[in-house]
Amino acid sequence: PNKSRVTVVGSGNWGSVAAKLIASNTIKLTSFHDEVRMWVFEEVLPNGEKLSEVINKTNENVKYLPGIKLGKNVVAVPDLEHAVRDANMLVFVTPHQFMEGICKRLVGKIRENAEAISLIKGMEVKMEGPCMISSLITQQLGINCCVLMGANIANEIAVEKFSEATVGYRENREIAEKWVRLFNTSYFMVSAVQDVEGVELCGTLKNVVAIAAGFVDGLEMGNNTKAAIMRIGLREMKAFSKLLFSSVKDSTFFESCGVADLITTCLGGRNRKCAEAFARNGGKRSFDELEAEMLQGQKLQGVSTAKEVYEVLSHRGWLELFPLFTTVHEICIGRLPPTAIVEYSQS
Ligand code: NAD
Ligand code: 13P
Repeated sequence: PNKSRVTVVGSGNWGSVAAKLIASNTIKLTSFHDEVRMWVFEEVLPNGEKLSEVINKTNENVKYLPGIKLGKNVVAVPDLEHAVRDANMLVFVTPHQFMEGICKRLVGKIRENAEAISLIKGMEVKMEGPCMISSLITQQLGINCCVLMGANIANEIAVEKFSEATVGYRENREIAEKWVRLFNTSYFMVSAVQDVEGVELCGTLKNVVAIAAGFVDGLEMGNNTKAAIMRIGLREMKAFSKLLFSSVKDSTFFESCGVADLITTCLGGRNRKCAEAFARNGGKRSFDELEAEMLQGQKLQGVSTAKEVYEVLSHRGWLELFPLFTTVHEICIGRLPPTAIVEYSQS
């Protein structure tokens, strides 16, 4: 009688894989309703068909995750209100720049007892300072929000290759364990830590380091340089996280959301890939242009995160403390050439 209903808000590359993972569990576990609703930001495909209709007809997200069956119990819903109406477990997984608008549309539309989890890597910067996406959800919708981050390149999880992930929670361990049960599978091993800010900042900030790693690849600097950039980046991730939230734990950086996500994204992620192309072109083609051409509708998070981090650093007078984060943004906006990524550390 008290079965939980899950809705996934988002249906991009990772959103679709998250829906697949969840649906494989809701169908097995008696504490969840089988059906998983997945909100689709509607678009018309080149053949004139609507994406949500094609997903429901073929059981595949032909645009963002082609070739993968999502599970018959995943239902694509283009109407946001309808998608969330009955859910008491909300999984947020859209590119971070769309979340403010989505939250505004959801005010007063969700169930009062709903619990949320954010799989979104990114932050917003407000007049008052930085706001993590889980906090945005809590503030705007008045609901508790955990996070799930990890070394999770979506296309690899889609074909069921083994990986790990970390759930970050604030106080309620039982809720965190419920999220673990919803996501955990034989090939997706999830554990929970009580450090929501630390987990979310790891997932967010590693995208800035991945841009730096991509520059190093584009400049053909080799593995030692890339490892150095990753090490310096990890140190800045930790220092920045602790300056923002003194509660952040050292141990979080050794979870999947920390060093493991940093490694996989610097090796195989989209941020790395586009940054490599940016550096190969000597910074002459913009990230917007490269993103549109190389990712076909998928979205980069690292470039905007670098800008958001830069705003926080300059506002607080911390720019000199974070030479890597600062340099990445200055390269992205064309103020410095890509080669500056290795020059700053020699000064
Ligand atoms: P994506 O990069 O595939 O982005 C495309 C999605 O954005 C599509 O669903 C599209 O419909 C939607 N979109 C486009 N314009 C929109 C608008 N105006 N309003 C709302 N939605 C719009 O998305 P993703 O890969 O699912 O990433 C979502 C989050 O998950 C990001 O924060 C990302 O960093 C994180 N993440 C991604 C991966 C991965 O491998 N893809 C892995 C872990 C975490
Ligand atoms: P990219 O967005 O760079 O592909 O990173 C994906 C990711 O977050 C892996 O965990």
